[in-house]
Amino acid sequence: MSIYWNDRVKKLDPYVPGEHPRNKNIIKLNTNENPYPPSPAVVEAIQRALAGDQLRLYPDPASLVLREAVAERYGVNPDQVFAGNGSDEVLAFSFGTFFNSDTASPVLFPDITYTFYQIYAGLWNVPFRTIPLGDDFSITGGDYLLPSGGVIFPNPNAPTGRAQSFEEVVKIVAFQNKRDRVVIVDEAYTAFGARSVVPLIREYPNLLTIHTLSKMGSLAGLRVGFAIGNEELIKGLCRIRDSFNSYPLDRLAQAGAAAALKDSSYYEGITQKIIATRERTAAAFSALGFTVIPSQTNFLFVSPPRKTGDGVSRGAAFFAALRERGILVRYFDKPRITDFVRISIGTDEDMAVLLKVCGELVSGTDA
Ligand code: PMP
Repeated sequence: MSIYWNDRVKKLDPYVPGEHPRNKNIIKLNTNENPYPPSPAVVEAIQRALAGDQLRLYPDPASLVLREAVAERYGVNPDQVFAGNGSDEVLAFSFGTFFNSDTASPVLFPDITYTFYQIYAGLWNVPFRTIPLGDDFSITGGDYLLPSGGVIFPNPNAPTGRAQSFEEVVKIVAFQNKRDRVVIVDEAYTAFGARSVVPLIREYPNLLTIHTLSKMGSLAGLRVGFAIGNEELIKGLCRIRDSFNSYPLDRLAQAGAAAALKDSSYYEGITQKIIATRERTAAAFSALGFTVIPSQTNFLFVSPPRKTGDGVSRGAAFFAALRERGILVRYFDKPRITDFVRISIGTDEDMAVLLKVCGELVSGTDA
């Protein structure tokens, strides 16, 4: 605490991102980055954007070329697209645009979900209520058919990896639509196997979907996210953005992201590879006796059959044992999930090393 901080800052409980080690020999499976490189078209587009003295000039504040590429890819129009500096920024702006403070109606989200939702609620002073996931970590759509200040969840959920059915999501959107409440579906991982609700934005003016190029687009380093929804929702987001920073996306990010969105055949290829690796890895973990939550994402949420190493919980011990052996995964010290770790899907070679180490840890043959 500092005497110079205002009361709002004193009350914040900021997000702690997964570790980014300097040691390049570590197998890094802790922040759901894509193990494959971005499309070569991305690098070419960035090089073109760098040519001459273009960086002297501000970027397009409206990111129009990028929004046109999103529109084309998703079958919507550019006025239904908002682009931001990573989907975290788009999410932060969405909390500020659609959810009220000073209200008795809380925003609803799952008890186990993306940590940032609670942090944005704190930042904007938005009251919230968490809805418990089922024992199998599934979201029950019926639990969200309540008067509310709005609803937000990822589909598939994170860090569990479980997807909800399209029909269940529609039920929530339709119910909240009748009450003029916005439902935000965070589709950060949808490309890895769930069904997107983007086609519903015309029917449901209260539906906002959020997307990122960090995972499926293999561009975590470029920081590009976007929202798709009804024009009125998008205009609201622009009001917040333009009260904050008119140029959230630089020239290189806009050019690179647009190129990525146009190269769907490349991305379809690497996505299919990741899905195949995920399925093989999940089966191998099950065979080792791990609990494996069915995943439609580029990560697995797993719990070892017994405590493997030192730590206060099964998950913490497993995380520490893997870290000691040069493999970095993500452990969340939160109620209900202390037996689990989240493991990003890497290359087949990374997964082979991981599975060998896990096999040794559970069989106790690791010296
Ligand atoms: N939503 C979810 C569910 C996530 O897991 C992440 C990644 N941490 C994000 C949004 C943010 O992604 P980015 O800011 O890299 O676009």
